[in-house]
Amino acid sequence: MGYSVDVFKFLVEHQGSMRIAAKILSNKHVVRNPLFLFLQNLRIEHVVKKLEVPVAANIELTNNCNAQCIMCSHQHMKRNKGFQTYEMFQNIADQLKEMGVRKANLTGIGEGMLDKNVFKKLRYAKNVGIPETMITTNASMIYGDNVNELLETGIDAIRFSLDGVGEEYNRIRVGLDYDKIRQNILDLVNKREKGKYETKIYLNLLKKTDGLKDESGVVNTWKNIVDGFNFVYYMNWGNLEDNIVEHGYNNQAFIRRPPCPFLWNTINIMWEGQVALCCLDYNVISPIGHIKEQSIKNIWHGELMNKMRETHMRGDFSNTLICKDCTWYPNWWG
Ligand code: SF4
Repeated sequence: MGYSVDVFKFLVEHQGSMRIAAKILSNKHVVRNPLFLFLQNLRIEHVVKKLEVPVAANIELTNNCNAQCIMCSHQHMKRNKGFQTYEMFQNIADQLKEMGVRKANLTGIGEGMLDKNVFKKLRYAKNVGIPETMITTNASMIYGDNVNELLETGIDAIRFSLDGVGEEYNRIRVGLDYDKIRQNILDLVNKREKGKYETKIYLNLLKKTDGLKDESGVVNTWKNIVDGFNFVYYMNWGNLEDNIVEHGYNNQAFIRRPPCPFLWNTINIMWEGQVALCCLDYNVISPIGHIKEQSIKNIWHGELMNKMRETHMRGDFSNTLICKDCTWYPNWWG
C-alpha cells in the first residue's frame, strides 16, 4: 500500500514523469477507468494549488497566414488582421518576466515567421530573462538568412507543424509543398548541428484517432532527425462542429468532462493585445481582458478568469462561450 501511494504521489507531483504517463493516460480505455478519475482528481488539486502564474504564454505575433490548412480555424476568423508592434511585445515580455512565467511561445492563429520583427522580438524575450523561448511555425519561411538569424536569437525550441508526409501533407496543408518544407527543416537541423546551437526541434502532429499509432507516418520518417513530437488531438476549435464531420477526426472519450487545464497553465495574448481564454478562441469570443487596459497579472487573477475557473471546477461549461461545445478536453497529465 505504501509503495502504491508513493507511485501515485510521484505521478501526481512530477511534471517530468508526465511525458510517458500522458501517453498511457490518454488512451480511451484508461480514461474510462475509475482509477484514472481518482488519480486525475489528485492531479487537478495539486496543479490548481500550485499554479499562481501560468507556466506558458502564447503570444500571437500576427494573425496573417500564408497557408490554408484544411483543419485550421483561420478560414473562419473574422478579427482584423495585423502584426503585434515591437513596443507591445516588449511590454508583454517585461510583464511575463516579472510574473515568473517560464515559457514564451510565439504562436497564434497565424504564421509568426511572417513578422519582420520576429528575430528582434525573440532576442528581446531571451535578453529580458524569460527562461524558454519558442516558436510554432509551418517552416515555409525557414530558408536563406532566416535560418541562421533564427538560431542566433538563442531560441530554445522550434515546433514545426507537419501532420503528414508527401501527398498527405500537401492535401492537409494547402498552399505549402512538402518537399520544400522538408528541405527547410533539414537545412535548419544541419545548421544547428554545425553551429552547435542548443535549440530543440520538434514536430507537431494532429492525432486523428486514440491510441499510440503513427497514423501519418511522420514519426517513422522523422524520428532520427528531430528531438521529439508533440501530439495534439484533433478538436472543433470550440465551435466548428463541421470540422470534425468533414475531416473525420475525433477527440478523446472521457466519461466525465474535466475542468480545462488551460485555465490554469497558459495565457493567450493576441496580436492586438486582447487576452483570449485559450488558444482555440480564434475570434476571441471569450475575452478575459486587454493588455492596454490592465496588467497581465491582473487579468490572470481577475474576476472574469476566476469565475471561469470556478464554473469549470463545478463541471459547468454552459456560460463559457468558447468552452461550451469544445470537444478538446486537454489532458491534465501533459
Ligand atoms: S475547454 Fe476547450 S475552449 Fe475551453 S479553455 Fe479548454 S481547450 Fe479552450
